[in-house]
Amino acid sequence: MQQFKTESKKLLDLMINSIYTNKEIFLRELISNASDAVDKLNFKSLSDSSIQLGNDDLAIRVSFDKDARTLTVSDNGIGMTAEDLEENLGTIAHSGSQEFKRENAEHQGGDVDIIGQFGVGFYSAFMVASKVRVVSRAFGEDTAHVWESDGLEGYTIEPGERAEHGTDVILTIRENVAGENGEPGENYDTYLSEWGLKDLIKRYSNYVRYPVQMMVTKSREKERPADAGDDYKPEYEDYEELETINSMTPIWKKRSSDVSEEDYNEFYKSTFHDFEDPARTVSFHAEGTLEYDALLYIPSRAPFDLYSKDYEKGLALYSSNVLIMEKCADLLPDYYNFVRGVVDSQDISLNISRETLQHDRQLKAIAKRVEKRVTSELEKMRDDDRETYEKFFENFGRGLKFGIYSSYGMKADELADLLLFWSARGNKMVTLAEYAAAMPEGQKAIYYAAGDDRERLAKMPVVKGVLDRGYDVLLLTADVDEFTFQAMRGYTAKHMPKVYED
Ligand code: ADP
Ligand code: MG
Repeated sequence: MQQFKTESKKLLDLMINSIYTNKEIFLRELISNASDAVDKLNFKSLSDSSIQLGNDDLAIRVSFDKDARTLTVSDNGIGMTAEDLEENLGTIAHSGSQEFKRENAEHQGGDVDIIGQFGVGFYSAFMVASKVRVVSRAFGEDTAHVWESDGLEGYTIEPGERAEHGTDVILTIRENVAGENGEPGENYDTYLSEWGLKDLIKRYSNYVRYPVQMMVTKSREKERPADAGDDYKPEYEDYEELETINSMTPIWKKRSSDVSEEDYNEFYKSTFHDFEDPARTVSFHAEGTLEYDALLYIPSRAPFDLYSKDYEKGLALYSSNVLIMEKCADLLPDYYNFVRGVVDSQDISLNISRETLQHDRQLKAIAKRVEKRVTSELEKMRDDDRETYEKFFENFGRGLKFGIYSSYGMKADELADLLLFWSARGNKMVTLAEYAAAMPEGQKAIYYAAGDDRERLAKMPVVKGVLDRGYDVLLLTADVDEFTFQAMRGYTAKHMPKVYED
């Protein structure tokens, strides 16, 4: 048996027990490796005309055997020689993929999308497996090799059999662990179930660019016998079918001119679990030092828990089509907490667990741009489609006001023009700018009255008095309104100088 190299034993222990907070990501890591292996072969075939590949043949296959407690991730990618196995799997923190990327950097015509970079993802398999067996045959070689390890001491490499080039990573899944002292246990059996695996593939690897396939059990109606009478009850039978689980092309990477509104809406509804179409969809691609794609949605209605403390804001963060974080809160300011969507950047620096981001400078830059785009979309909605905007404001206006109030007015420049207030004279919602524009010569103040009930406010003698002088009065009925107005003083002084003239 070969011992793991260098300080690997310690490192491996650290890996398995502390780097990842979430065991289930092992599947994402293995599928990402399989995708990289397929990508490398695909890339090779592009630059070497002697390699003939039907693009449809390239695939990743996930299968399991409940009785043997094995889970297998197979690919028909580039495979590994005995030396590769030694170098890539025998040395922790050695990334063959990173090397590949470096070596081929000059011809990277955009058609390689290698995910690996740290050389540790593979070992996450030991979080759920007591043994890992890798059977691999490198492209162009006649023999296969088997790498095997329990993840503790070392590994063995022996000659083996594989019909074609590619790799099988076979995990022996650990036994369930019962919970103790109120602590939850560990249910490893999920990784030996069709729904459990399907769920993980869809969640983390849905947009991996090659098909991830699995045999799934389906049910169909048996053929109706010819002599079936009126009281015939249809019978059903189970059958197995190879299904592609992931949807592959990430909609946010497509040009928006190539995507129908319906497709955008469908993606929104299925991804963010809403049954109504979004009010607005914004998609953009950023280039420059930090390249990324963003797809943002402004929902039509507020989720039921928006104003509860359990509500989590955030955008989904992907790197090279692989999910890193379901809700990255740093990408959205609190007052835009209702925005849903996706940011995908190959450039964002991740640390080895991929779960902690390294540079929040990059995130901040993205967040800033996201905020700007949301603001300008809301302004457009306010100006071009007032009816929809009023509905939007009814749902989410409270958050915008809160943004001004809780920033002590610092966010007023950004948000004040998005606010709507009830105009007693116009009997409708107006912006502050509209209020100011309608002010007659000589009006020196913004008049507002705050209370619980709009009708009652409108009937108050003071309000009537002001209206009689030809001035409009804003009727404020929301709890944050008055505070918001106070916090906006600086803003109104700057933008509505008329109000403050002597
Ligand atoms: P990373 O993917 O970040 O490079 P991993 O620990 O996930 O690190 O994998 C280490 C290396 O092992 C990869 O860089 C790659 O060279 C090799 N490897 C892993 N899985 C496969 C596979 N299915 N086919 C070919 N090579 C693989
Ligand atoms: Mg990897």
